[in-house]
Amino acid sequence: MPAAIPKTEPLRLSVLRRYAILDTLAEPSYDDITLLAAQICGTPIALISLVDSDRQWFKSSVGVSAKETPRDHAFCAHAILNPDQTLVVPDATQDERFANNPLVVGNDHFRFYAGAPLVTPSGEAIGTLCVIDRTARELSEEGLQALQALSRQVIALLEMRRLVSDLETLSTTDGLTGLRNRRAFDERIIDEHHRSMRSKHPFSLLLIDVDLFKDYNDSFGHQAGDDALEDVARIIQYTVRNYDLAARYGGEEFGVILPDTDNQGAMGLAERLRRAIERDEWMYRQITVSIGVATIEHGQSIPALIEQVDRALYTAKQRGRNQIVSADAD
Ligand code: GH3
Ligand code: MG
Ligand code: MG
Repeated sequence: MPAAIPKTEPLRLSVLRRYAILDTLAEPSYDDITLLAAQICGTPIALISLVDSDRQWFKSSVGVSAKETPRDHAFCAHAILNPDQTLVVPDATQDERFANNPLVVGNDHFRFYAGAPLVTPSGEAIGTLCVIDRTARELSEEGLQALQALSRQVIALLEMRRLVSDLETLSTTDGLTGLRNRRAFDERIIDEHHRSMRSKHPFSLLLIDVDLFKDYNDSFGHQAGDDALEDVARIIQYTVRNYDLAARYGGEEFGVILPDTDNQGAMGLAERLRRAIERDEWMYRQITVSIGVATIEHGQSIPALIEQVDRALYTAKQRGRNQIVSADAD
């Protein structure tokens, strides 16, 4: 008998997805928990099961090789219906919910099940820590308490994981524009430089500076200036390709790293960008940008590349702004 769907199912699933844990690789800290659960409860099987929309997926398992099963077969799909209760099934053949379950009547021969819901701080049961035996039995009060304590540890691990990931995003994102920040730019350029040295493929850089932006601020105020920077960032983000990295390099300057891109490709993209910004409908007055372009083609160092792109940008300003200059042609 498939379990009912929890009342808060859409919210429950979005809370589960926020942990970004489904289909990740095995990790020792989760495996330690299933190992302890199996040992303390004296069962051959222990699982950290996460109940997805149409399957249960195991973050860690002792005693079974499957990575997931259909949700319709999952004992855990029943357990999550009561987030504050551990579901104990002493003998599945005697329980109408499970007597005809393929895991019971088939070769898996499940009989005993105890599942402590994994309850998030917001109160959603996203899965269970469960133990399973192939013979009918009971669980001691100590076993029950240990299972519940370990289920809270699973949530503690998941919360930590989310926190670390949020912090990583925060520490590499620019607060005003949502683009990557200077730190992310600096890290990525080192990666691309390594890759380019190994593969002998070129990569290119754009340095984009908003023209006469001090005047824009002075004329229309700092808030209008901030709004304009957000718009410029939005245009940059939708113009670059998915694998390019667009960052706020500082103030009203933006940097774009273009992996596997030669000078001609970079000039093409820079020109599209320049035009897109020039043609946008600006609230107060037209905004334009000057763009320096540099391509690593002769194994130059990162500082040399940055200096080249800086100089190219300076030349574009000198020549009257709203234009692109390549360091190559300089
Ligand atoms: P140029 O065409 O030579 O680049 O002229 P410019 O006025 O843009 O150059 P300058 O470097 O003198 O001025 C940059 C201005 O950008 C000054 C500063 O107030 C403004 N700016 C930098 N960061 C921000 C920001 O976060 N918000 C706002 N509103 N303005 C910013
Ligand atoms: Mg500037
Ligand atoms: Mg400027």
